[in-house]
Amino acid sequence: MVKIGVSDLKARPGGELEFKAQEKWSYLATATGNIPIVAPVRVGGTVTNTGKILLVKGQVATTLELTCDRCLEKFRYSVVASLEEEYAGAAVGQAAVGENEEGGEVRPLEGDFIDLKPAVEEALILALPMKWLCRESCRGLCASCGQNLNEGQCQCDTRPVDPRLAALEELLRKREGEN
Ligand SMILES: [Zn+2]
Ligand SMILES: [Zn+2]
Repeated sequence: MVKIGVSDLKARPGGELEFKAQEKWSYLATATGNIPIVAPVRVGGTVTNTGKILLVKGQVATTLELTCDRCLEKFRYSVVASLEEEYAGAAVGQAAVGENEEGGEVRPLEGDFIDLKPAVEEALILALPMKWLCRESCRGLCASCGQNLNEGQCQCDTRPVDPRLAALEELLRKREGEN
């Protein structure tokens, strides 16, 4: 848990606090599964008491292990994401937990602590690439034999097949199966 103690700051409107933390997480939970985290999760930044809320501005950095969409090999992906989060609690000011005026989220304080973990997780998930590729030029796997084409060309005949011929071949294969 990346927690920042803010008991002092809560009582100081206009006050600011710097934070820096590093933690080991084994994985990042996403809607489609758990992504291994292979380096410490580093966070740093400042918390400002605006009089209404505690505003966190900072950065998170770590390394994830993704699986290539094309060749299915695992590769390391360095991610740096920015954090900008609002926290509120009864003792800070008038702002309510829930939604702020701009429609953004105001997260709850846990007593004298900000628990950054939910915000860090969200920032990392948002920073994931759309396509997971070990490299831009990844050649993927051969559709017939499964050979990783980054490691070398296979012996398969990869010329486009005439659909009429394919149908005939299919028929012949079935015949063979029957005999
Ligand atoms: Zn690949
Ligand atoms: Zn092949």
